[in-house]
Amino acid sequence: NQSQSRKTSRYEEPLKRFTDAKNQMKDIYNDLEGCVQNLSQFYDDGSDANKFVPEKEIQEVRRFQDSISTIQKMFNRDKMKVVFFGRTSNGKSTVINAMLHQKLLPQGIGHTTSSFLKVEGGSENEKMLQIEGSDTKLPITDLHRLGNALSASDGSTKIGTDSLITVLYPKASSKLLQNEVVLVDRVDLSPEYDSWIDKHCLDADVFVLVCNSESTLTQAEKNFFLRVAKKLSRPNVFILNNRWDASSAEDDDQIEQVRNQHMKRFMTFLVDELKSCSPHECKDRVFFISAREVLEQRMKDRGELANAYQQDGHARRRADFNNFETNFERLISKAAIRTKFEAHDRRAREIITDMKDNLDNVTNLASQEKQRLKLDYELKNREFNECRKQFSEFEQRYREQQQRIRQEVHLKVSADFHLE
Ligand code: GDP
Repeated sequence: NQSQSRKTSRYEEPLKRFTDAKNQMKDIYNDLEGCVQNLSQFYDDGSDANKFVPEKEIQEVRRFQDSISTIQKMFNRDKMKVVFFGRTSNGKSTVINAMLHQKLLPQGIGHTTSSFLKVEGGSENEKMLQIEGSDTKLPITDLHRLGNALSASDGSTKIGTDSLITVLYPKASSKLLQNEVVLVDRVDLSPEYDSWIDKHCLDADVFVLVCNSESTLTQAEKNFFLRVAKKLSRPNVFILNNRWDASSAEDDDQIEQVRNQHMKRFMTFLVDELKSCSPHECKDRVFFISAREVLEQRMKDRGELANAYQQDGHARRRADFNNFETNFERLISKAAIRTKFEAHDRRAREIITDMKDNLDNVTNLASQEKQRLKLDYELKNREFNECRKQFSEFEQRYREQQQRIRQEVHLKVSADFHLE
């Protein structure tokens, strides 16, 4: 029963599957490391008994060791990664904050900066900013100065317009950070950012496009994803039609009509243009939400806000946001397990197969060596037996000779005696 309920809770926590898979993979590599180390010690122990092990096999085992240690280091960098896109003010920071259940990123800072942010889980008391390419760590309170390209409290550190700022925040503060989800908030969608795609998007497991429900999907937004799709086949994309609370003033029929129009356009984009999912999967990829309502409700639940912003029809938007999170968690953990661990798993299998071949070769050589030693031994034994035989023959001859001599001397002595 206990294991049944453990299984159920695991299923309900898809994000944990990634951490589980990572831990299992780590165990496999630790075991593999132990086996390869023992083999390496055996090959390298310098005794005469191992002289028959060829250099090729010894070198191969050293390469296995290097490979294993490189992959073990990679485990620490393997995280689930989601990248948020959308025009300024569409509500990307608010969506991230709602998902983190706290107002961590500054909201409503406008167009003045094109720096981008990465939120990553750190240790218990880690609340700081790190700027790409610099060792400087800034207090997290500086994040709210983002309005005019970030500067340190003393005004000494200016941040470039295209620099990546990592926000390190305690893991324990959010389920996403706890389970190694990294969130990247991209402010701009200008076409010059091809190199940015190469640098920051190729290892992304999921993309979230945050749209403004009051305007349609722009060509700039579409172009960006089409460029991503050229580099990553079938990217996992969610579309959040944010600020859906603006529709609350309309009557239900009108809301439904606008919703269907948006849905149709998003489906054409996701299914036909981006080839990111099937028409059937679209309902789990497109959501009509109000990030502001969800964030404020969650802050109120934590006792950080007295009154949460709410418009008519908020329950359905909140349900849609929860639905988005459930689908997001499932998809990101599935994609990350596939992209991050499939390669490690394949490499582990390759190492095991190569190691088996290596051991088979050496075992064959060992039995040949045994055979050779056995033959050598038999030869030496024969020679030795020959020597022994020679020696016994010699001994025999010697005894006989001695006998003869003794007899001759005796005869001679007796004859002499008779002569006397
Ligand atoms: P970003 O530039 O895309 O990161 O957008 P922000 O998250 O900074 O949001 C811009 C402004 O829109 C802020 O003042 C938010 O409070 C507001 N906002 C964000 N989401 C919503 C929403 O769902 N409804 C409403 N009414 N306002 C929102």
